[in-house]
Amino acid sequence: MSEAADRLADVQVHIADAAKRAQRRTDEICLIAVSKTHDAGAIRPLIAAGQRHFGENRVQEAAAKWPELRSETSDIVLHLIGQLQSNKAEEAVTLFDAIHSLDRSSLVQAIAKACQKAGKQPQLFVQVNIGDEEQKGGCATRDLPALLAEAKDAGLTIAGLMAIPPADIEPAPFFALLDELAERNGLPLRSMGMSGDYETAVMLGATHVRVGTALFGSRG
Ligand SMILES: *Cc1c(COP(=O)(O)O)cnc(C)c1O
Repeated sequence: MSEAADRLADVQVHIADAAKRAQRRTDEICLIAVSKTHDAGAIRPLIAAGQRHFGENRVQEAAAKWPELRSETSDIVLHLIGQLQSNKAEEAVTLFDAIHSLDRSSLVQAIAKACQKAGKQPQLFVQVNIGDEEQKGGCATRDLPALLAEAKDAGLTIAGLMAIPPADIEPAPFFALLDELAERNGLPLRSMGMSGDYETAVMLGATHVRVGTALFGSRG
């Protein structure tokens, strides 16, 4: 096995163990390999090992890397996990199968317009600023119901919520809160958990974990 295949198998085992402990089915959990900053040469071994869901945080970078990789493997699923500027909504809707960073009214309108034009809608997650941090992206928790209502009015289907908990404190309470917010708003999906905490996230209801470093090594 390649080093990439080893790492992938390892992460998959940890996800399966966490799912089992929480009495959840492993196939409810989607592993997104976060390939930001890594080039095609680093990504191909993971594709060869069977990984299909990938995450990027910048539209530009994804547009440069993924058309070629996709031409080699037809069933790649591409997730945008980073902040999105409204003027890139059209490109994002064309390029990505899922967008995890819908976080404000102007972006709801831009994405709705882009979806109409493209005749398709990526799977959409509303990003919540779960720790109510000053500098952090994401919709404030108190603004979530209004944003969800606006998305619905604009014709968008929201599949779930996404969050990045505050750094350097125990993430579990924030995962539990995101799960609760999703439940309360009738949303089936929860995008939460990264290399350092994805097992905890799985135990607390994550349906999508976004794992970079544990699969690719450090970003240098
Ligand atoms: C980079 C990134 C990740 C992956 O982080 P790792 O710690 O490398 O697993 C997950 N989610 C988002 C939003 C990211 O930007």
